[in-house]
Amino acid sequence: MDLLSTLVDKGLRREAPTRDEALAVLRTADEDVLDVVAAAGKVRREFFGRRVKLNYLVNLKSGLCPEDCSYCSQRLGSEAGILKYTWLKADQAAHAAAAGVAGGAKRVCLVASGRGPTDRDVDRVSETIAAIKEQNGDVEVCACLGLLSDGQAERLKSAGADAYNHNLNTSEATYADICTTHGYEDRVQTVQQAQAAGMSACSGLIAGMGESDEDLVDVVFALRALDPDSVPVNFLIPFEGTPLAGEWDLTPQRCLKILAMVRFVCPDVEVRLAGGREIHLRTMQPLALHLANSVFLGDYLTSEGQAGKADLEMIADAGFEVEEAGRTTLPPHRAAGSAAEDGTAPSGPPADEPAREAARTDLVAVRRRGAGTELPPNA
Ligand code: SF4
Repeated sequence: MDLLSTLVDKGLRREAPTRDEALAVLRTADEDVLDVVAAAGKVRREFFGRRVKLNYLVNLKSGLCPEDCSYCSQRLGSEAGILKYTWLKADQAAHAAAAGVAGGAKRVCLVASGRGPTDRDVDRVSETIAAIKEQNGDVEVCACLGLLSDGQAERLKSAGADAYNHNLNTSEATYADICTTHGYEDRVQTVQQAQAAGMSACSGLIAGMGESDEDLVDVVFALRALDPDSVPVNFLIPFEGTPLAGEWDLTPQRCLKILAMVRFVCPDVEVRLAGGREIHLRTMQPLALHLANSVFLGDYLTSEGQAGKADLEMIADAGFEVEEAGRTTLPPHRAAGSAAEDGTAPSGPPADEPAREAARTDLVAVRRRGAGTELPPNA
């Protein structure tokens, strides 16, 4: 059996590929990338259909971090001209979150710069979670506050946090190259603390930091072993004023192969297309929806994303649908009490029944420039 057929079979069985098979995905020739996308897309559809979950970031505290993560515009010594502010008040954060929810987001990710929260910070975030849930009881809240101390995961869970994010970012072997103020093992421990407290773990990676194929495979296998429910795949945003400002070696084809490899290694996990998609995938973003079942809507922590309206149009044009509130994202074997387990069908047409398109006459503009006019052409 050829490589891609083997990977699809294993993915559908939730079986891990071998390291060599994962490496081979990354080393596929660029001209064969559509074959890779089509194969990994079968695995994505098996567990998530055509649904795309929207997530919305709220940066609760921006910049001024004492840690030195070299990819981060908020790091110690960063000269990136980003917004810098201290903790948003609960009502300010809830106001920001409401915009994302109104745009279709079902998860709000509350992020704060820093090594980790103080107990007072956990109080502040707890107030913010309460304010968000008071506005909308259905919204999932994920906290991303850095390294956790004993008892903090339990307090966040009690405050209503559904999930906790802490990314591994890169392989254990190269972690010290991207950060010296904390270690890889600290990150693993925080993910495990979140899981032990009963929160859904979210942990992912950043590609494009100069790592090797082996590093990428290592971090994705490490994530599989940690067993998070969601894996955000970031592509480095090389901010001017940070040590990695010159790292522009990702291509759209490389990004697609990385996403496909993540899907084959973590077949039934929420794979999120995260930061950097606009600048590295560019016009190839719709193909990435065949691999990832989740995206961030709106802006990132310190940089702007593409317009929310453009994202929604891209999702619809590519033949996908925004996952509705109340629908459980994860497949039944990963999610207790899901609608599918209950036998409760989601509302709306079945996933395989194409929705009839509304006429989009607003997209048709009569040409009034170029040939036959006095105006220059659109070129
Ligand atoms: S990634 Fe987090 S801990 Fe590292 S420098 Fe940025 S804000 Fe600080």
